[in-house]
Amino acid sequence: MSLANLRTHYTSQIDPQQLSDQKVTLAGWVHEVRDLGGICFVVLRDREGRAQVTLVKKKTDPEMLDTARKLVRESVVSIRGMIKPESKAPNGYELIPEEIILLNEAQSPLPMDTTGKVEAELDTRLDSRFIDLRRERTTAIFRIRHEVLRAVRSFLTDRGFIETSSPKVVATATEGGTSLFPITYFDREAFLNQSPQLFKQILMSGGLDRVFEIGPIFRAEEHDTRRHLNEATSIDIEASFCDHFDVMEILENMVAYIYEQVIENASTSLAFLGAELKVPKLPFLKLTYDEAIEIVNASSDEMLNWGDDLGTMAEHIIGEHVYKETGESHYFIIDWPTEIKPFYAIPYEENPLLSKAFDMMHRTMELSSGAQRVHVPEMLIGRIESQGLDPEGFEFYLKAFRYGMPPHAGWGIGCERLVMSMLGVDNIRDVVLFPRDRRRLSP
Ligand code: ATP
Ligand code: MG
Repeated sequence: MSLANLRTHYTSQIDPQQLSDQKVTLAGWVHEVRDLGGICFVVLRDREGRAQVTLVKKKTDPEMLDTARKLVRESVVSIRGMIKPESKAPNGYELIPEEIILLNEAQSPLPMDTTGKVEAELDTRLDSRFIDLRRERTTAIFRIRHEVLRAVRSFLTDRGFIETSSPKVVATATEGGTSLFPITYFDREAFLNQSPQLFKQILMSGGLDRVFEIGPIFRAEEHDTRRHLNEATSIDIEASFCDHFDVMEILENMVAYIYEQVIENASTSLAFLGAELKVPKLPFLKLTYDEAIEIVNASSDEMLNWGDDLGTMAEHIIGEHVYKETGESHYFIIDWPTEIKPFYAIPYEENPLLSKAFDMMHRTMELSSGAQRVHVPEMLIGRIESQGLDPEGFEFYLKAFRYGMPPHAGWGIGCERLVMSMLGVDNIRDVVLFPRDRRRLSP
């Protein structure tokens, strides 16, 4: 038996009028079997939808009827038959079978319900992700993620960016050694990289001019929040002869474009999730760090959680404030104190206490950080030292600055945070197929 004969169409590709009385073969999972005595319905489900297979007892070969009745839910089948338009059936047709091939029988009971009648706990769903993905709602998230990444690639390619990849196994920390996973690399210690930052900057010295990368970042932070993973997907750009305002403009336009593309290409998936997207208005509001602090101070004083960043509660207060004032969820915070931003962010010449660094925020959380970078080697060494780091560990990076490094700027935006903020999903684990967090290392 050739596998090519197991399927001629997806369930969604059947036009009941055009294919009326014609033979097709569908393949997928047994979603449901309803045996009503004189008539038996099998609902076949594939990636694109469902089809009703109808077996009328009097008109059906007894052996095939027996096979159909005994089908166990979620088994894999291929069913060849005739298309009959039927307005009461899903998609407006039913399939009158001529042959049912059981390709692989599912055990029962299933690890979790797939019909959507009972909502399983997130942990249960993640433990049996393969079954969870058989629910349209779950698949919808990953179809939308695909559209997001497709839009990113097309947007950046159209603007002259070249897609590159940087190593994930590295010898030095990007921003100091606190939040890295150490690994054994032959007889040496190495780390999983927390960001492509240093490498994408080296590429600017190489003259690639505009690059982007979509790849994993690893953070060994022990937080257990709804918006942190220990392995995440970062969308990063770096662009030469640009300042922070230039790359902010690229970022906000990209976000708006992604929303447009998802609305255009993933409407069915959005409907499954009950998500209604509104394309964010351009340009995004720009608050200075000082203005952001003022908003927080004006609203409360005891809830603040100052770390070396804007605390979570502060982010919420500002996000709600901006939303109330503008009706928009996205905004920038610019002009950060140099002290609390990484060494590679360039300070303003006229006020070195502030840097040309920014965060792009969603009402609910930080989505992106970026900056114009330090491109002068002496200044960079000074900045590395002032953050208590040893420039010697950064020699491979510093070298690229000594032989002609153009001024440049860039940002990184978390793919998962982008998707979850877009869809109103409140746990980041929902938008990752196989999340890695403090407790979860399998599957
Ligand atoms: P936060 O302060 O929210 O923990 P961060 O400032 O440490 O984030 P950056 O180093 O600025 O994060 O990384 C750039 C972007 O990458 C973040 O804005 C976020 O969208 C994403 N990102 C960073 N760390 C994580 C993580 N642990 N889980 C998911 N996404 C992350
Ligand atoms: Mg950040």
